[in-house]
Amino acid sequence: MSTPSPALRILAPDEPPAFEVVNPQGRSSAVLLCDHASNAVPRSLPGLGMHEDALCQHTGWDIGAARLSRRLSALLDAPLVLSGYSRLVIDCNRPLGSPTSIPEISCGVPIPGNVIDAAEAMARADACFWPYHHAITALLDERRDRRKSTAILSLHSFTPSMPGEDRPWHAAILYGRDRRLAALFLEAMRREPGLCVGDNEPYYVTDGGDYGIPVHGEGRGLPCVLLEIRQDGLLSDEGVEAWAQRLAAIYREIEADLFPGAGSA
Ligand SMILES: [Zn+2]
Repeated sequence: MSTPSPALRILAPDEPPAFEVVNPQGRSSAVLLCDHASNAVPRSLPGLGMHEDALCQHTGWDIGAARLSRRLSALLDAPLVLSGYSRLVIDCNRPLGSPTSIPEISCGVPIPGNVIDAAEAMARADACFWPYHHAITALLDERRDRRKSTAILSLHSFTPSMPGEDRPWHAAILYGRDRRLAALFLEAMRREPGLCVGDNEPYYVTDGGDYGIPVHGEGRGLPCVLLEIRQDGLLSDEGVEAWAQRLAAIYREIEADLFPGAGSA
C-alpha cells in the first residue's frame, strides 16, 4: 500500500485547485496576478485552528482583490491567474522559508495550525505554492515563445487601518528595481483630483518580502507593478466596477508608452 504524496495529503482530489487561470489567450499585453485571491483553507488543516472570523478579515486574504482582478481581466481582455487558498496556508507572494511564508502569527493573531515542521511546510508548498507559480510560468513562457509583449500587474488590497496607523492612500503603486510601469501608473493616477496615491508606501517590493514581482517580472525583464487598492474601495459592486474601469482606462492609456510600436493586439 502506498502513502499519498505530501501535496495530496494537504489537498484532497475533490477540493478546488490551487490556482485558476482566467482567459489565458487574452489579447492584452497585461497579465494579471492575484496572489491573495482566496481565504479558503484545505479540509486537512481545519481552519488553521483559528476562529472563522479571523480568516474572513484582511489577514486571511485581500478583500475584493479577486473580484477586481476578474473584472479588469474582462475589461482589458487580459489573462489572469488567481491563487486558490488563503495566504495563511502558505503565502504565494513570499519566498519559501521567509518568516511570513507560513506565519505563526499575523497582525497579532496567533495561528496555531501554522506551528509546523519543515516537511509539512514543503508539503504545503507542493500543494498550494508551486502549482500557482508553475501556472504563471507556463503562461509567461507561452507568451514569450510567440513574442507577445507582456507586462505584469499584481493586484492586491490593503486594510484601511492598522493599530496606531490610519492610511490616507486610496491606492498604492509598489515596485522594486523596475520602476517603468509604476512611474506611468503614478503619473496617470496623480492627475485624478481627490485621489491619494502611495508611491512605494505603505509597502514596497523586495526580493526577501515578495515573490511575484521579483521572479515573474524583474526576473524575466518584464515591466511589472504591484497595485494595492484600499479595501473600503472594493466592498461594493460599484466600488469594484469603478476601480476596474479606472485601472483599465489607465492601462490602455499607458500601454503605448510601455510598448512603443507594438500595437494593441
Ligand atoms: Zn496582497
